[in-house]
Amino acid sequence: MAICNTEKVLSVHHWTDSLFSFTTTRDKSLRFKNGHFLMIGLQVNEKPLLRAYSVVSPNYQDYLEFLSIKVPDGPLTSRLQYIKSGDQILISQKSVGTLVLDDLNPGKRLYLFSTGTGLAPFMSIIRDPETYDRFEKIILVHGVRVSAELAYASYLKSEFPNDELLGDEVKSQFIYYPTVTREAFKHTGRLTTAIKNGSIFRDINLPTLDPKHDRAMICGSPAMLKETSEILDSKGFKISAGLGRPGDYVIERAFVGD
Ligand SMILES: Cc1cc2nc3c(=O)[nH]c(=O)nc-3n(C[C@H](O)[C@H](O)[C@H](O)COP(=O)(O)OP(=O)(O)OC[C@H]3O[C@@H](n4cnc5c(N)ncnc54)[C@H](O)[C@@H]3O)c2cc1C
Repeated sequence: MAICNTEKVLSVHHWTDSLFSFTTTRDKSLRFKNGHFLMIGLQVNEKPLLRAYSVVSPNYQDYLEFLSIKVPDGPLTSRLQYIKSGDQILISQKSVGTLVLDDLNPGKRLYLFSTGTGLAPFMSIIRDPETYDRFEKIILVHGVRVSAELAYASYLKSEFPNDELLGDEVKSQFIYYPTVTREAFKHTGRLTTAIKNGSIFRDINLPTLDPKHDRAMICGSPAMLKETSEILDSKGFKISAGLGRPGDYVIERAFVGD
């Protein structure tokens, strides 16, 4: 069982009926790498009920932010969705995760492929100054069912390019590519289809995936992870073996499937 600190909820934002985000206080001794996840949860019947959560906020912020699904009968999220500012929340003292820059070979472009809450770890990675030192272009791809599920879209489009710390790099190096499967939108369809038929590369005016120059991180449903990995493998990309043994791409499940 993870050793936890008790933190305080600072704010809560509900994006849709099934998606919300919240910020909490952060213990001064907590250290994590951008892209890592923590165990978080609530005391239920005097026992900690914990689940893995990627950290949305970059590691230099003095608070923590998380993006959460609401599973109607989910043991944790059927309760967590009702938290409000001032409530207590358990947060583990140790972080872990495979979505780290150190596990990628050097390259020109970094693709961050996400669906649903798989966006969360990439929100911290795109705010890490090192990401912009290591790669010329960073392309954040977020696939969802309906546009209301595009959490942080307005921040990514309007505020992030004017960020005090990273605004210049964001303007010249960062590309945000949201895609929606179940309603009309600028880009529609599954991100794996957009990779396979090449439409994403035409849209962003970059060459198709090449293991010589491109690197990737993938975070989404088990099915999306499998399909995207298969595409990369077929193009000759090598997956990282983890723990400092770099590869051309890294993966992490956004949740464990049924
Ligand atoms: C490495 C890792 C990182 C994770 N990071 C996040 C995160 O940042 N945000 C987040 O909301 N969840 C994340 N999860 C999932 C999270 O740990 C819980 O599963 C989720 O909070 C639901 O908890 P629960 O107890 O309500 O239901 P559970 O019993 O844990 O899940 C019930 C079912 O709900 C579905 N489900 C669970 N999580 C999701 C999800 N995120 N998106 C779509 N369907 C889901 C699955 O079908 C699952 O079998 C992560 C999981 C892993 C393994």
